[in-house]
Amino acid sequence: MPEIPEMERYRQLLTETVLGKQIKDVTVLRQRSINLDIDEFVSSATARVIEGVSRRAKYVVLHLYGGFFLLTHMMLDGRIFYGITGQSEGLPGKPEVIIDFTDGNSLFFCDLRLGFLHLVTREGLNDTFSDLGIEPLSDEFNFDNFTGTLKGRRGLIKPLLMDQKLICGIGNAYSNEILFAAGILPGRKMPTLQEGEIRTLYEVIPRVLRKGIEHGGYIEEQFASWDNLTGGQNSQFLVYDRGGQPCKVCGTTVTEMKLSGRWTYYCSTCQK
Ligand SMILES: [Zn+2]
Repeated sequence: MPEIPEMERYRQLLTETVLGKQIKDVTVLRQRSINLDIDEFVSSATARVIEGVSRRAKYVVLHLYGGFFLLTHMMLDGRIFYGITGQSEGLPGKPEVIIDFTDGNSLFFCDLRLGFLHLVTREGLNDTFSDLGIEPLSDEFNFDNFTGTLKGRRGLIKPLLMDQKLICGIGNAYSNEILFAAGILPGRKMPTLQEGEIRTLYEVIPRVLRKGIEHGGYIEEQFASWDNLTGGQNSQFLVYDRGGQPCKVCGTTVTEMKLSGRWTYYCSTCQK
């Protein structure tokens, strides 16, 4: 499932491509991908200008003129593609919602499955975000808030990092990478972490996520035919999805195991 670096990459690309553009038409090919009747969805979005693009946790939001928002979540397989209206070549999957702009380009929302593209008001947006924890690349992510949110937790550190109500936007791939960067084994219980380890963890979280953004995230499919950066993170992972291969730092074989139901990767030499 795309995490902060992947969704931040989409935010950057959408800002570059559709900010300021006017929606000419909307085609809904799968009712379950949206939250309203198709007619209402289409008529509410059509003719509006995209006034802003933002990201919160694993959501990306297109801000429409007049106080409406298109809120999208990719879940497991969702992909967004930008191209010429009417084209089908190069699409990363089956289009479910297509937004055409007056300049002859379109956004294709493909393979959303459990993901979605919802049209909401400011209130709907706030409701969706009300349960989310601290945003790790924002100012609210300071050491006091970080320790405060983990205080008294008795669980394993990796599932805690992935708990969207504590810290949002981190999933299975980057939690493995963050714990490797911090030198902490994913199966450690929160109360066993020393103060120095918590400090290190706090410092590496934004660093690992920002590196992921710089490398274009790990989604393999291009956003547009000219997009050569997206997916660059795949060759950068140090432990994630590298079970049985040598650790890039010390050469020890990377361990792959299931922890709380999720595939987990670590180096038993670099992590304690
Ligand atoms: Zn190692």
